[in-house]
Amino acid sequence: MSWSARQQEMLQAMGLRVWVPAALAAPEVEADAPAAVAPVTPVAATLAAPRTAPTPAAAPAQPRPARPPADAERARHISTLDWPALRETVAGCRACGLCEGRTQTVFGTGHPQAHWMVVGEAPGEQEDLSGEPFVGAAGQLLDNMLRALSLTRSTEGDAPPAQRVFIANTLKCRPPRNRNPSPEEMAACEPFLKRQLELVRPRVILAMGRFAVQMLLNTQEPVGRLRGRVHAYQGVPLVVTYHPAYLLRTLTDKARAWEDLCLAAQVVEQAAEGGAVGDALTA
Ligand code: URA
Repeated sequence: MSWSARQQEMLQAMGLRVWVPAALAAPEVEADAPAAVAPVTPVAATLAAPRTAPTPAAAPAQPRPARPPADAERARHISTLDWPALRETVAGCRACGLCEGRTQTVFGTGHPQAHWMVVGEAPGEQEDLSGEPFVGAAGQLLDNMLRALSLTRSTEGDAPPAQRVFIANTLKCRPPRNRNPSPEEMAACEPFLKRQLELVRPRVILAMGRFAVQMLLNTQEPVGRLRGRVHAYQGVPLVVTYHPAYLLRTLTDKARAWEDLCLAAQVVEQAAEGGAVGDALTA
């Protein structure tokens, strides 16, 4: 991917460093590559442990064979769905209380074979009304950053999958007054995101913000401590970055977010060249 003069001007106007593919990079640009990128540290992706079924008030007279908990059965069922069935199941989901307050579910958007997958937090008011993720101010910032890398969420046009992004959230329903997702809501919604990731099979995942990180890396570590290196979700390289809504409030971290996108771009490019993910990132 090469930088057009317009992109370079745009990034420089934003005060952001221009990422150049290794093959094209001039030495001084390489010297400015994302600082001290640590070795690839795959983090074991652990899906939420199945919750145990509530204890029945009265024990049955005869012991019965153990049944898998309903949550595990539901997750297993979701893991078998194709795109239309998954979309339909999300639309009709009543697995947690968020279904009571939603206008509609927000499934996600983008090319089904996109090489990039962006994972955000949860729909806000505008997303709940429109049914599309990231349509508010944070979404505009996200789109601008993606555009600077020649990436698009659009499913139209003739851009190759390498330039396409699929955008999804950890939660498919809006939490009331945009409060934080609860652990129970995250656990109920996780099988949907997991299946979306299995169907898209992206070359890189960009986890934006702490809830995406919590779900995908099963960690409570803050974003600031996880960014700057390549993690893995079920074998797929994963880069952690700040949530665009946070960036709108914290302009000083915009440049760091841009570095994270450049790191993700580097991962995709290496994968396309057939290198082991992260090989050149350890240098
Ligand atoms: N923030 C998110 O994380 N996702 C959206 O869809 C909108 C805002």
